[in-house]
Amino acid sequence: MQYRQLVAGSDQLSVLGYGCMRFPTKNGRIDEETTERQMLYAIEKGVNYFDTAYPYHAGKSEVVLGKILNKHQLRKKVFIADKLPVFLVNKSDQLDKFFSTQLKRLDTDYIDYYLMHMLDSLETWENLKTLGIRAFIDEKKASGAIRHIGFSFHGRPEEFIKILEDYPWEFCQIQYNYLDEYNQAGLQGLKAAYEKNIGVIVMEPLRGGNLAAKAPTQVIQHLNTYSEKRSPAFWALRWIWNQREVSVVLSGMNVDDHIKENIHVAEITLPQTMTEEEIKIIDDVKKIYLESMKVPCTGCNYCMPCLFGVDIPGTFSDYNNKYFFGGKMAQFQYIGKSVGLFGGQKSGADLCTACGKCEKHCPQHIAIIDELKNAHKALDMKIVRSGAKLVAGFLKMRKKKK
Ligand code: SF4
Ligand code: SF4
Repeated sequence: MQYRQLVAGSDQLSVLGYGCMRFPTKNGRIDEETTERQMLYAIEKGVNYFDTAYPYHAGKSEVVLGKILNKHQLRKKVFIADKLPVFLVNKSDQLDKFFSTQLKRLDTDYIDYYLMHMLDSLETWENLKTLGIRAFIDEKKASGAIRHIGFSFHGRPEEFIKILEDYPWEFCQIQYNYLDEYNQAGLQGLKAAYEKNIGVIVMEPLRGGNLAAKAPTQVIQHLNTYSEKRSPAFWALRWIWNQREVSVVLSGMNVDDHIKENIHVAEITLPQTMTEEEIKIIDDVKKIYLESMKVPCTGCNYCMPCLFGVDIPGTFSDYNNKYFFGGKMAQFQYIGKSVGLFGGQKSGADLCTACGKCEKHCPQHIAIIDELKNAHKALDMKIVRSGAKLVAGFLKMRKKKK
């Protein structure tokens, strides 16, 4: 494993960070047995940075992380990153309350890397300041309850720079991958942080899977023109670790083979070692993606739940898939879900009442209401919908009779 410093003079962190937002699940809950086995494997291979947050897995990510670390007496061997749920804070006393809850859930008395979760503008940060966040941070750092302070960011580059310059941050966390070089904080933000000596953690390196398992055939074919066979995830991660400005890359790992592969790429990719040929391949792949992507949704779920039942990321995923993969599969899937064919609730974009609640939470600033309309128009097929409705009705009746 390679190690890089996030904060000068402090810990040597594994360049691969373990994202605890996507622990494996079984029957709607974290599959603790699999999580434990996978975490222990990663630690054995040198991973030492674990990233969680208050809302992940409805609060259970922190609990399971703390439980596994303590069970194996690993707390002192690894570093925990956790985040203040900024979007839930509107009173000063909540700062302490959330923090105490997090320590309790993690079953620890300190957090190594604490972040303001999802700052999107200087205004959000200013609001926190009026609630006394500076004094809160000073006190927690003085007592040792917080070792290092940073923020995670989803917003426009100019806001990122303003936040960066407004406080003596030790590190920050940005969305960055080869499709987001000029999106959000992007390359401009990465360079600005590096120049200020502020360590950078990268999240969404695979853009919610769009650059890995969901990579379209055209992309895979182009990547395969390279002499050595590599997966799309390998390429995406290698592109990031090639950049010396990045300290740690988070990966939400829950499949054994993916964990092994991520560790392998983390071990072999040193900064600035990609050849011109490799860089050209990624540049070509970027063009292929940009020509076919309809909505830049990462599947982060921050817009969910929709009170009216719309599966927002699912709809956008089907929408993009239609153009990535061609054929009618994405449309069948969308229509099936939107009429409740697979036993679930109806979840199509046609349920949207344009209430606007979701748009406020989207880190990608997607015009969700308009894009849902576009997606529905592109995905719906009237005849198929009528047939699917009949089948769904029939299956429902049969279930009732049973
Ligand atoms: S705008 Fe539409 S999709 Fe968004 S929360 Fe409201 S009803 Fe749901
Ligand atoms: S629409 Fe926005 S908030 Fe919702 S899943 Fe996609 S990127 Fe995330």
